[in-house]
Amino acid sequence: MSEPVRSRALVYDDRVDAAPQVRDTLVRAPGTGEVRVRMRAAGICHSDLHALNGDWPIGQRVVLGHEGAGVVDAVGEGVTHPAVGDLVALNWYAPCRACTVCLRGRPWLCTQTAALENALPGGATGASDADAPHRGIWPYLGVGAYAEYVTVPAHAAVPVPSAVPAAVAALIGCSITTGYGAVRHTADVRPGESAVVVGSGGVGQAIILSLVLAGASTIVVVDRSEQKLRAASELGATHTVLADGSEQERLRELFPEGADVAFDAIGAPSVAGYLPAHVAAGGRCVLVGMPRVGGRAAVDTWDIVTRGISVIGCNYGSAVPERDFPAIAGLYLDGALPLDLLVGPWVSLDDAAAAILALPAHTGGRMVVDLAAI
Ligand SMILES: [Zn+2]
Ligand SMILES: [Zn+2]
Repeated sequence: MSEPVRSRALVYDDRVDAAPQVRDTLVRAPGTGEVRVRMRAAGICHSDLHALNGDWPIGQRVVLGHEGAGVVDAVGEGVTHPAVGDLVALNWYAPCRACTVCLRGRPWLCTQTAALENALPGGATGASDADAPHRGIWPYLGVGAYAEYVTVPAHAAVPVPSAVPAAVAALIGCSITTGYGAVRHTADVRPGESAVVVGSGGVGQAIILSLVLAGASTIVVVDRSEQKLRAASELGATHTVLADGSEQERLRELFPEGADVAFDAIGAPSVAGYLPAHVAAGGRCVLVGMPRVGGRAAVDTWDIVTRGISVIGCNYGSAVPERDFPAIAGLYLDGALPLDLLVGPWVSLDDAAAAILALPAHTGGRMVVDLAAI
């Protein structure tokens, strides 16, 4: 139990700017309050690309991946939940559970999380170099999901029913919860409301399914890819708009008075700049796509003030994973959220780096790294 395990993992160090490599690592046994998870699946999310393309400088050697699921393999001292054998989806924003916002029940805003420093709480890591065990390798966003094993805090490993496929559980760990929460929690979409969604990647697609579930009357999806727009229609978009430079004109035609709510699911400052103009007086504009560090948008402040527009930032779907992961899994198992539609092709760990870099041109469902096969 106390021995480390060998774990193949996708390792990257932006200080040497070498391509990510699959390497042997050692993952230590879980300490007090921690669990070790034998990973099954991890989605390829745009936030992994942000690490590789320099949008988010890292300055550490990390195991990439943050949208993952697996089965608990060992638990540390004091852990009663989850248990060995539980299927868990991993929370990539493990909160400190002690800061003011955590104590107010808003862990997605935690100010003391170590996740953004790519570490476990307290600045630790569970992984090291197999050839030099004293050299730590850090978990990207506190997870480092592209690996056979991860050691994480118990509260970052959230059980979901074992009937949920591993790929769906993995996506619940990031894109699905972010999209679902943006609709359910951040925007609080009501039946009959109209919506614009810019960007139909992983988060955008989860937003579309969640808008259908919420009873939105009109769902207009904007994207640069005709293939992605066709997929959006299959998920429930009532109108699609090709982002070919005329998308704002089309939005004005569709919503002369603006939509009730609009989502930027890309994180592009240009979209954040124009979107408030396309919501109705008193409407909500939710910025949920992750921008690059330092992204800035020019907005029409007169318009925002005089028409009472709410521009709302949304981190991780304003979600409480312990509550939302099982709720989403339940909606999936009940047939209310057809999340299988969001899952795309499996890729091997050896092909994961190429798949991350291919993400901008990828038009199908979420690519998922098959970690059970290692
Ligand atoms: Zn993600
Ligand atoms: Zn906190």
